[in-house]
Amino acid sequence: MTRTRALPQRRPLPLLTTGQIGELQADLADPVEYRKSGLSLNHVVGCPLECGYCVRHLYENFAMKTPRALMSDEAAVNALLTHRYFRPHVTPLQLFNKATDPMLPVVKQHTFNTLRLLDERGLTNHVLVITRWRVDEGDCAVFNTFRNIKLTVLVTHSNIQHPGIEPVDSQIAADSLRTLYANAQSYRTILYWRPIVPGLNDSDADMAYARDLAEHAHATVYTGLFFREEMAA
Ligand code: SF4
Repeated sequence: MTRTRALPQRRPLPLLTTGQIGELQADLADPVEYRKSGLSLNHVVGCPLECGYCVRHLYENFAMKTPRALMSDEAAVNALLTHRYFRPHVTPLQLFNKATDPMLPVVKQHTFNTLRLLDERGLTNHVLVITRWRVDEGDCAVFNTFRNIKLTVLVTHSNIQHPGIEPVDSQIAADSLRTLYANAQSYRTILYWRPIVPGLNDSDADMAYARDLAEHAHATVYTGLFFREEMAA
């Protein structure tokens, strides 16, 4: 087991009560989700960023703007590691990729702490963290402390200019990507160009910009829009 150095601490997010958790749809109340791509851990729910295509529309949770925790990071990691499909050093993991953004100021302490708990167990699983929010050099320094997990930070960037669909300025993500790439030592960073929507962000100029931004990433991933009627408000 390898111990990482002490990480920044602030007050943990309040826990949802049993009654509040009972009001969530089952998919959100369960912190561990099996996916074809691995296991996804989501023990924080709620996000103020209001992306028009947020998957929380499907869970009738989009109105929950204040992040809250289902359980402690320790309990969540225990639920993950005891899940019947978890295999040490093998199962790909995703952290906070469904119900919040992992780099929101009130959430990132849980992101760092959960990564630390996994790393301290000597696990070498791939772990994906996907954000569109601000990542600074101090955050990169924390990501560089992990010695065992194979950490990849994906930065979601759409360059969609429609504020009703993409209310978060894409420049924030572009700056985060550049910072992550410039400071990467023990992790890797990926430009996650999504969602591509015909007519909104697929012009030649958009593609040229994406190509330039890709110079500040170890790899680039493109995906389309996972559209459902619930998002059409
Ligand atoms: S950052 Fe993620 S969780 Fe937050 S609104 Fe956007 S898509 Fe939803």
